[in-house]
Parts: sequence; structure tokens; C-alpha cells
Amino acid sequence: MELAINGGTSVRSKMLPYGQQWLNDDDINEVIQVLRSDFLTQGPKIAEFEAVVANYVGAKYAVAFSNGTAALHAACFACGIEQGDEVITTPITFAASSNCALYMGAKPVFVDIDDQTYNINPDLIEAAVTPKTKAIVAVDFTGQPVNMDKIKQIADKYNLTIIQDSAHSLGATYKGQKVGSLADMTMFSFHPVKHITTGEGGMIVTDDADYAKKLKLFRSHGITREDIAEDKGPWYYEMTALGYNYRMTDIQAALGISQLKRLDEFVDRRKALIEMYNEEFQHLDVAITPFQLADTDSSWHLYILRLNLEKLSADRKQIFKALQAENIGVNIHYIPVYFHPYYQGLGYEKGLCPIAEKWYEEVITLPLFPKMTEDDVRDVIEAVKKVLSYYIFK
Ligand SMILES: *Cc1c(COP(=O)(O)O)cnc(C)c1O
Repeated sequence: MELAINGGTSVRSKMLPYGQQWLNDDDINEVIQVLRSDFLTQGPKIAEFEAVVANYVGAKYAVAFSNGTAALHAACFACGIEQGDEVITTPITFAASSNCALYMGAKPVFVDIDDQTYNINPDLIEAAVTPKTKAIVAVDFTGQPVNMDKIKQIADKYNLTIIQDSAHSLGATYKGQKVGSLADMTMFSFHPVKHITTGEGGMIVTDDADYAKKLKLFRSHGITREDIAEDKGPWYYEMTALGYNYRMTDIQAALGISQLKRLDEFVDRRKALIEMYNEEFQHLDVAITPFQLADTDSSWHLYILRLNLEKLSADRKQIFKALQAENIGVNIHYIPVYFHPYYQGLGYEKGLCPIAEKWYEEVITLPLFPKMTEDDVRDVIEAVKKVLSYYIFK
């Protein structure tokens, strides 16, 4: 069959997005109830959402934020990251994972990825530690948890804080433990493409009371009514740190509470869909399917196909465009963070993480979201096979 990019008929008539939320009537009704209530923000739904997420992941405290990026910023504040400090992270992530260090005047230090899991390679972290290193932002890329045992060993040895960027991995487990119960602080994002949504939204979970207190302070301008030595009157409050307005609304929290009830169903659905992909793609010798460590159970935010470019007559860009022309909403996760002009301007140079850089040339993210139908998955499979077989060296 003629490829759509060459003038043939596309596999789908309408573009299939790579990710999308799934709201039902219950979700919508919960939001409407808040709209009819006394509080649109700073009301009771925030604490309720925090409690159900903390309970779900097995953490003592949870602090909701206006988005996941704000949550990461607050986590960096809570663990005392300052001007001149260094924060280790992976280049294969959304820029927010390292921007949060920059917000504090700290320097992101990029450590190359593991060629199989695509997560930060824990064996390379120790060499990147300096006396200035304060924290590791460990990203559970695609939903597969990082190798936390190894990362913890290094963190303990050098007294580093572990901030787990679990924007992709709500509902995942590591050695039988839920993500959210492993690191000093763990961030979740509730952007519509993530596992559950609040429109925009984020959260930090932690077992540390001091962190929780600082997170709340940072979320609301650095203002507190607690720990005030002298009774200066019922109106009195103090601003004790330079915080922000990073609050989530009750409207968002109500949606989050309702969505969380469906999280396990969403994750199961993602797993069923990726099984369909794996079954078809594991036999292709021009592509590599995602590798999973035996002791991790991914919650599958993303499904990434890695191309064996030596066996193909086209590069990733050409294959990407050909799939797009078939109306498959492919995507790329991610451009190595330090490739961005802003980071280049800070002095980061290409060649820093060679495994990640080569990997970046070879990967394509396929659509994956719980609302996808089996027919949608079959369309993606058909389009991938159609495009790859056209470009196989014969
Ligand atoms: C989505 C995402 C974030 C940021 O979350 P927002 O809620 O969009 O601010 C951070 N890190 C990773 C890896 C993400 O995918």
C-alpha cells in the first residue's frame, strides 16, 4: 500500500492523539458540586485530595500544587537547595525536572541514561557527585520506576535528598512498593496526558513532617499563621520565606479525588494496550520494544518504540512524518534537556551524555491512553508496520 506521505490513503481518517484525559459523568458532577459550594479555592477539597493520594501511595503527607512544575520547585525549596548547589538528573525528561534546580540558583548536572531502561544510569551517578551536590531528581521515565536501591545507596553515602519525579509513574511499584513511598519527596503531575488529571495540577508526597510544612509555606507566599511567638491579634500572620502562589483550587482537587478512584482501572487499561503493541512489535527486527526490569511494575505513561536505524533506509524524522501522515499522533519524548537553546546558553555542550543523544535519534512515542480503543491500537500497529516495511532495506 502506498504511504500517505507519498499520496496514498492514510490508515486513519482522523488524527489519533498520543495522550488524552478520560472524564466521565461522576468526574464532571464532582466539579459541578464544588462550583455550587462556598469554596472555589482554599476550601476542604484540597486536604481531601491530599489525603486520598497519600493513602493510595502509602505516604504520610501530601501537598497539592497548581502544577507539577511548581511542586518540583517547592521540593527544591523544602530540602534547602541554594545558589551554587548542584542537582543531579537525567537529560531524557521534561525540562521541568532540571528547571526546578535553576529556579533555586542551583546547577543541574546531567547523568547519562541506561541503554535498556532509558532511566538515569545509577552506576554513573557517583562519578557526578561533588561537594556541592545536594539532591538527585530521579525521573521514572515512561512510568518505569528508577533503580531506587542503587540511588538510595549513593544518596545515603553523600547525604543527598532524593526527589522522585514521578510525573509518569503514579500507580507504579518498585519491589512491591508503590511509587510515592520510596524517596524523600515524590512529585506527581495531573496534566491531562498523565495518569489522572485535574486540568493543571501537581503534588508532593513525603513522610517528613518538616518537608511537608515547608512545602505548604512555599505554596502560599511563604506566609504562615503557625509558630508565632507572641499573640499579636487574630488577623496576624507572618511571611517568613519568599514563597509563591502555587495553590491548587478546590475545583481541581474535586476532579482529582474523582479521577483517583479510577486510577487502577486506567493503569490496567494501559497495560492491556501495551500488551497488544508488544505482541506485534517484539517480532520486528527493525524496532526494539520497551524493556522492563523484573523488580519494577510500570504504570505505562508512554510507549516508546526504538528504531534500528541500521536496517532502515529512512531516518527517524522521515519515519515520524510518515506516521503523522497516516494520522497517527506520534511524539518524541524527549529532546535531551541540555540541547535546548536556553541550556546551551548556560554552557552545556552536546556530547555530554552520548547514550542519551544517540537514543534520542532513534525513538518514537506511540499513542497510549486509557480511552483508546482496541481499534485505535490496531490502527497504530497497521501504520507502524506499513511505514517500517516500506523503509526496510531490501
Ligand atoms: C509532566 C511532567 C512534569 C511537569 O508537570 P506539569 O504538571 O506539567 O507542570 C515534570 N516532569 C515530567 C517528567 C513530566 O512528564
